[in-house]
Amino acid sequence: MKEYCGLFGIYGHREASMQAYLGLYALQHRGEESCGIVASNGRRTYQHRSMGCVSDVFNKTILKKLKGHTAIGHVRYSTTGSSVLKNAQPFIIKHKRGDIAIAHNGNLTNSPELRKKLKKNGSVIRTSMDSELILRLLVKARSGNIKEGLIETLPKVKGAYSLLFLTGDLLIGARDPHGFRPLCIGKLEKSFVLASETCALDLTGAKYVREVEPGEIVIISKNGLESINPFSPTRKAFCIFEFIYFARPDSNIFTKNVYLTRKRLGRALAREHPVKEADFIMPIPDSGMYAALGFSEESKIPIEMGMIRNHYIGRTFIQPSQHIRDFNVKIKLNPIKGILKDKKIVVVEDSIVRGTTSKMRVRTLREAGAKEVHMRVSCPPLISPCYYGIDFPTAKELVASEHSIEEIRKFIGLDSLKYLSLDGMLNSMLLPKETFCTACFTKDYP
Ligand code: 5GP
Ligand code: MG
Repeated sequence: MKEYCGLFGIYGHREASMQAYLGLYALQHRGEESCGIVASNGRRTYQHRSMGCVSDVFNKTILKKLKGHTAIGHVRYSTTGSSVLKNAQPFIIKHKRGDIAIAHNGNLTNSPELRKKLKKNGSVIRTSMDSELILRLLVKARSGNIKEGLIETLPKVKGAYSLLFLTGDLLIGARDPHGFRPLCIGKLEKSFVLASETCALDLTGAKYVREVEPGEIVIISKNGLESINPFSPTRKAFCIFEFIYFARPDSNIFTKNVYLTRKRLGRALAREHPVKEADFIMPIPDSGMYAALGFSEESKIPIEMGMIRNHYIGRTFIQPSQHIRDFNVKIKLNPIKGILKDKKIVVVEDSIVRGTTSKMRVRTLREAGAKEVHMRVSCPPLISPCYYGIDFPTAKELVASEHSIEEIRKFIGLDSLKYLSLDGMLNSMLLPKETFCTACFTKDYP
C-alpha cells in the first residue's frame, strides 16, 4: 500500500483542534481522500475522522467537540482498495494506561514481517495500515515510559516515516533515520507546532523553528521540547519528488523553498534541451507552472497560458452518460483556441507518470489548432516504483519503465520530447546531491 499524507500537530493551545483544522487545510494537497483530528485535554481524547476533504469533513460544531490543548491531524490519499474509513487517520488505541494516537506519512518496507510477529504475539490488528503496526509495537513495548518505548520500537520499523503521536499530555514527532518525508517544527506564541510543510505554519501564523532531523524524536510537554536520536547516523534520503511535484510551491521542505527549486529545474531544462523559434512556453497548470517560469526566463521565450484550469473540481464527479471524448481532461483544463491556433509551443511538465493524461492533453492542444507541440519534462524518466510513500504505480504502469523516450514521444503524440537529466535535476537542488532519494529515477533504493 502506497500513500501520500500530510501531518499537523500542536501542543498547548486554547484552540488546538481549530489550529489543526487550519493546518490540515493548508496541507490538503497531500491527501484528499480522508482526514481526521484527535485532540486531548491531558485526561481524555476526542476524535473525528471521515472520508473526504478537510472543508467538507469539519465544521464548527465538530471542532468544538474536539476539546483540549493538544491536537494532531492527518490528511490521507491512498490508492483504491484501501480507501475505507477504518484506514483514515489519526489511528487511536484506547488503552488502560491512556489513549494513544498516531498519524503517519510514509510507507514501511517491513510491514509483512511486523504484522506476522505482532499476530504471533497475540496483537489484534484492525486495519490494513502499516501505521497501526507501529502503534501496536509501541503499546506492547510500553514499559511505563513512552520515551523508552519509542527507543525500543522505532529501530524495528524499516522504511519511511514521519510520525506524530498524541498521548496523555504529550505531543511527539519522529522522522525515520533516512529522513524520507519532511517534518518541521514551528512555534505559535508559546505553543509548539509540527507540520509536514511550512505552508501549514504560514496559515496558522506559526513561526518556523527548524526541521525535525532524520532519526530525531521530539517529545513536547509542559516542560518544553526534549530531543533524542536513538539511531546511528546513516545516509540521508530526502524524497526528491517532494520538490519535483508533491509539495506546495510556497512551502519550504528540508529547509529549502519548493518554488525556487522548481524554477531552477526549469532553467536547467531550458539549457539542456532548448527549442528553437518556439512561439511560446506553455505550462500545464498547476504543477508545471514553476518549471515553465524558469524555462521561459532561461530561453527568453515568453509564456502563455494555453489552457485554463477549472479550480472547482472535487475528486469525484459524475461522468456524463453520453460519451464525451477526454472528458476528465476537458473538465479540468480548457484550451484557448485563439492562443494556440497555428502556434509552435513548448509544453513544460513537472513529470510524466503513466503518460495517459499527457496524451489526452496533447490531443486537446492539437484539436485547438496547435501546429507543433514539444514537451519538456523537469525530471528524468520515472522508471521504478516508490516504496517510501509516493503513490506511483507499479513499474509496469510507469510508461518510462518499459518504453524508450522515442516510444513515449510517439505514444503522447509530440513533435519532440525531452527530459531533464539526473545530473541536471540534482544540480538544480539547493541541497547537496547525496542528500536525496532518487530511487524512482535510478532504482537505487536507500
Ligand atoms: P501522465 O501523463 O503521466 O498520465 O500524467 C502526468 C501528470 O500527472 C503531470 O501533470 C504531473 O503533474 C501529474 N503527476 C505527477 N505525479 C503524480 C502523482 O504522483 N499523482 C498524480 N495524481 N499526478 C501526478
Ligand atoms: Mg501536473
